[in-house]
Amino acid sequence: MPGLTHIGLAFIAKVIFPSISLWLLFLATEMIDLIFILFLILGIERTPDHKDGKLSAYSHGLLMATIWTILSSTVVWLISKDGNLSLIFGGMMFSHWILDYIASPMIYTFPNDTGVPIFFQNSKKIGLGMWKSKKAVNIGEYGITLFGIGIYLISIL
Ligand SMILES: [Zn+2]
Repeated sequence: MPGLTHIGLAFIAKVIFPSISLWLLFLATEMIDLIFILFLILGIERTPDHKDGKLSAYSHGLLMATIWTILSSTVVWLISKDGNLSLIFGGMMFSHWILDYIASPMIYTFPNDTGVPIFFQNSKKIGLGMWKSKKAVNIGEYGITLFGIGIYLISIL
């Protein structure tokens, strides 16, 4: 859920894989949050600090994030018939979960956050909890994003 950092990673990926569309990389890194927004609108999921007990397990749980990633990279393969593109899309999409695992529980932004679930609502929550201070959030969100934009701009000059 750390919004900006995923965008930063898409810029970094664009430098590594210049032939892939930046928009496709944005889509890959934000796909799990897009699924979350859909479930949020449908009332199935909540932000991590919501007190009604609902979590973002169907979008952000380890099991479902893995399933969404496999499904999405399969769709990319079916459309493009490009195995490399499908693997990179899947890798970038799953980077979202890895980053959320590093950041969660995001105590600084969501004081009641308990981490990302392994399976569903009541399963074990995990995470390294890096987003617990303003400094960590600033470095993680703005630092990585500015770094990504910076190396991307240098790469296209
Ligand atoms: Zn997320």
